[in-house]
Formats: sequence, structure tokens, C-alpha cells
Amino acid sequence: MTGSLGYDLHTHSIISDGTTRPAEIAAEAAELGLRGFALTDHDTIAGWDEAREAAALHSIDFLPGIEVTTKHEERSKHLLGYGVSPEADELFSELERVRVARFGRAQEMVARLSKRFAITWEDVAGDAELESVGRPHIADALVRAGYFVDRSAAFADALHPRSEFYVPTYAIETLYAIELIRRAGGVPVLAHPVAERQRTPTTAEAVREFAAAGLIGIELDHPENRTDWLPPLREVAAELGLLVTGSSDYHGAGKPNRLGQCTTPAETVERIRALAATPH
Ligand code: AMP
Ligand code: FE
Ligand code: FE
Ligand code: ZN
Repeated sequence: MTGSLGYDLHTHSIISDGTTRPAEIAAEAAELGLRGFALTDHDTIAGWDEAREAAALHSIDFLPGIEVTTKHEERSKHLLGYGVSPEADELFSELERVRVARFGRAQEMVARLSKRFAITWEDVAGDAELESVGRPHIADALVRAGYFVDRSAAFADALHPRSEFYVPTYAIETLYAIELIRRAGGVPVLAHPVAERQRTPTTAEAVREFAAAGLIGIELDHPENRTDWLPPLREVAAELGLLVTGSSDYHGAGKPNRLGQCTTPAETVERIRALAATPH
């Protein structure tokens, strides 16, 4: 099917914190008439092969990606990296460190939570295919045990950063992560820079710093971006010549975001591919 709806460049599967398989995302994207999609699981590329094969089967385009949680001046910034080389040892050893830290942090949170809620580590991370564990997996265990109606309710309460059960986790510095992705032959794009859940918007000043470090694009079209916070970022993106992307940040049933809710035009995807070590 040749879709006319463009590309959804930000999706998560069960390999990280989505609720559907990489192949199911491909099937759903084809069903919706999307031209293609990127799989951007947190900290891992383990879903790429399945997504790529399923995309070919459904005659849609696949762009391989990843999402990395970083920090800049103590604020959390999510960075998408498209088309990194799977052989980039420097990047993948750093991501290995992130994943190991995430498992330790989630175990500590579960230990704290289990004093109040009847959940176990097996309930949270029992899935053998899980590569990167996060609060969404703890949320799912709490939901299954009947304490909350959905992930969002668990995030608003027991998993909130101000909750007594919350434990922070190691995150790479944003500027270093941008450099790592570039050195891995990837195309760094700042994810949901003005998401509602952030206490303050990403500033134009920060975007200038990121661009100086090698940032190539910015995800201005995202369901969680606050429209009233967007104008200064549109301006700075135009001034710096950053690529502007649109994506849903689909997590299956884990978030209200719908696949294809926001999309990126094919010309932009071609420009990303032209710069990427792994364009398909
Ligand atoms: P963590 O990195 O483990 O602290 O968890 C953050 C992840 O949880 C993000 O990448 C989102 O995918 C997800 N998330 C954040 N807020 C919510 C929410 N309100 N409902 C569902 N998922 C969320
Ligand atoms: Fe996520
Ligand atoms: Fe994110
Ligand atoms: Zn995401």
C-alpha cells in the first residue's frame, strides 16, 4: 500500500516500554496507510530486525531508531537517534551501562513499593524479551494487581518523582549523548522538547547549545508538546536550519498516544537517511 500520511518516527515496542511487538507496529502502520515508521525503543536496538522484516512484508518503509534519556542542567531531555551503526561500541557500551543502572533502580523501587503494594520483581520484569526496564513496567504490575486503573494513574501517584518510592536513574549528559550518536553515524533529534509533563519548556538557548554539539532535528509535532510553548522553538529551529519532525510516541496500550497521530513528511525522512550510517 502506498500511504499518503507520511512517517511516524517515534514508537516503542515490548522490547522497551510499549505493549505491542515490533511486527505489530509495522502491521498497524500499514493498516493506517502510513508510508513508514521508525522503531525507537529506549536504550536498545534489539527490535530492529523484527520491525524491518515486518515492514518489508507489509510494503512500508522502516527507519531504525533509538531513544535515550539524557540530562542537561539537571533537567531530563529525551534524545532520538536515527540510523546509528549497530557496531558503534562507544555508544552501545554507554547504553549497556544505562540499562544495567535501570534494572538496579527498578529493583530498588520495587523493594520500596513492595512494603505497601503486593508486587514482586517477577511481576515487573518477568518478560524474557525485555531489554530496558522503566517505571512503565512497574506501573503495569501495579495495574495488574488492581491498585491503579492504568499507567497514567500509577505515574500520577506511586511512581511520581516526588513519591517516597521514586528512585532516580543514571542518565547520559545531553551534549555527550548528541556527540555519541553523531560518532555512531546517527542523526540526533530532540524528542518532545516542550512536553506537558516537563515543569518548564526546553529553552531556545538550550537548543542552540545542542545544535552546536551536533543536534540535527527537533520533534516539534508531538501529542504531548504544549502548543503555547512552541513558538520560540519554531523560531530557533528555523534560524538554525534544524529538521522538524512529527511523531506519535506510540506505546501501544501504555499511553493514549495513537500511532500516526503526528507524522513527518517523506522529504524530511530522506534528509535523515542521507546522513545516517544505517538508513534502512
Ligand atoms: P523512566 O525512564 O523509567 O523514569 O520512565 C519514563 C517513561 O515512562 C517515559 O519514557 C514514558 O514512556 C513513560 N511515561 C511517562 N509518563 C507517563 C504517563 N503519565 N503514563 C504512561 N507512561 C508514561
Ligand atoms: Fe517510553
Ligand atoms: Fe520520550
Ligand atoms: Zn518515546
